[in-house]
Amino acid sequence: LVELDRRHLVHPVSSFRGHEERGVRVLTSAKGARVTDAEGRELIDGFAGLWCVNAGYGHESVVEAAAKQMRELPYATGYFDLGAEAPIRLASELAERSPGDLNHIYFSLGGSDAVDSTIRFIRYYWHSKGQPERDQFISIHSGYHGSTTMGAGLTALPGFHDGFGVPYDWQHRISSHYIYRNPHGQDEQTIIDASVAELKAKIEAIGPERVAAFYAEPIQGSGGVLVPPKGWIKAIKAVCEAYGVLFVADEVITAFGRTGPLFASEEEGIVPDLMTTAKGLTSGYAPMGAVFMRNHVYETIAEGAGAKAVGHGFTYSAHPVSAAVGLEVLKLYEGGLLENGRKAGARLMAGLHSLADHPLVGDVRGRGMLAALELVTDKEKKTPLPASVQPATRLFDRAWEQGLVVRSFPQGIFGYAPPLCCTDADIDGIIERTRTVLDQTLE
Ligand code: PMP
Repeated sequence: LVELDRRHLVHPVSSFRGHEERGVRVLTSAKGARVTDAEGRELIDGFAGLWCVNAGYGHESVVEAAAKQMRELPYATGYFDLGAEAPIRLASELAERSPGDLNHIYFSLGGSDAVDSTIRFIRYYWHSKGQPERDQFISIHSGYHGSTTMGAGLTALPGFHDGFGVPYDWQHRISSHYIYRNPHGQDEQTIIDASVAELKAKIEAIGPERVAAFYAEPIQGSGGVLVPPKGWIKAIKAVCEAYGVLFVADEVITAFGRTGPLFASEEEGIVPDLMTTAKGLTSGYAPMGAVFMRNHVYETIAEGAGAKAVGHGFTYSAHPVSAAVGLEVLKLYEGGLLENGRKAGARLMAGLHSLADHPLVGDVRGRGMLAALELVTDKEKKTPLPASVQPATRLFDRAWEQGLVVRSFPQGIFGYAPPLCCTDADIDGIIERTRTVLDQTLE
């Protein structure tokens, strides 16, 4: 398999850099928060696949729901006004639970095309309002919004732009809130004030009548699990409101219990104009994403469209099998998983904080089941790990050897996003194995 993978399966992020030597690691089965590899080794999945298997592996009821749907009606297009029961019910269940009047839901295939769809809907919205010149978008440095061409434009990680010729004439960024390495220091109110001032200045510089929307992840995930100061999101949203700029919460990672509640926007006390989700929506059992729109967004698009068709949609939008999975997963969340995730999240954070006195640990951060350790060689100076340690691959490899799957970021950050079903033993295992890796890295 390793050889066939090398020859034929393209993993753009790893195939083109050293994949030749390393080779793919093949998983064969999984249950709860544990995965088993092709050699029969069991590991704790501290990353829920790719921050997505929130419910954990091996839920028979999800398998049954998918199989039943496949048996009865595997496909009905959501492109026109045809449909199936499962996506209609899922949209209605989600609308009932979403913050405020985010009542209208468009199902995509994942996160990137959910983000891309918001860009299209937002452009259409401003056209409908007679302000087509509102065509400029703002996001945040180190934010991740997917890897479709437009979504990758909002993604502010250089590897997603370099060499791809991503169009630049429509997107702008403000600095990240990154508390640990903030040029304004670590005082949270100072960081909020600085970001508010920067966003205002950015909007003024672009021209307020040109700005369409602002995108934020409630917690930046792929940028290194960067948790904003409490109140940051609300303060930034207030600036958007003052300028009539639409605010989009990209909850692809944070929704569905990852940080505690069903949606992180709830705990931020905001109602975004649009919200994107994916990952935990189906917990990785089937591909699906969802764009949530507030009433005013939906109604404005409808007014602008009049009798015309709004030309947007995918063959697999509102896929019945994914929707059946989503409905079942939602039952699991509300049948105890969110609750368990909150308890396990508190244990995870306490465990990671217990590592704070380790000589390599510079920062411990997170909320609920979304957390990170930032490693440094000098705590005082916050010196990043040297490149010779190859944080992105060597730390990952060492954790793997210890029976732990984590995400390791190039800057020397360990990211954690375990399934919400984790037991105490799973969480304690994550912490113990991390400590072993840290001790080895010191040697
Ligand atoms: N937005 C955010 C915040 C994400 O974290 C991701 C994926 N990590 C995406 C969008 C893109 O989602 P997908 O990989 O499902 O296309």
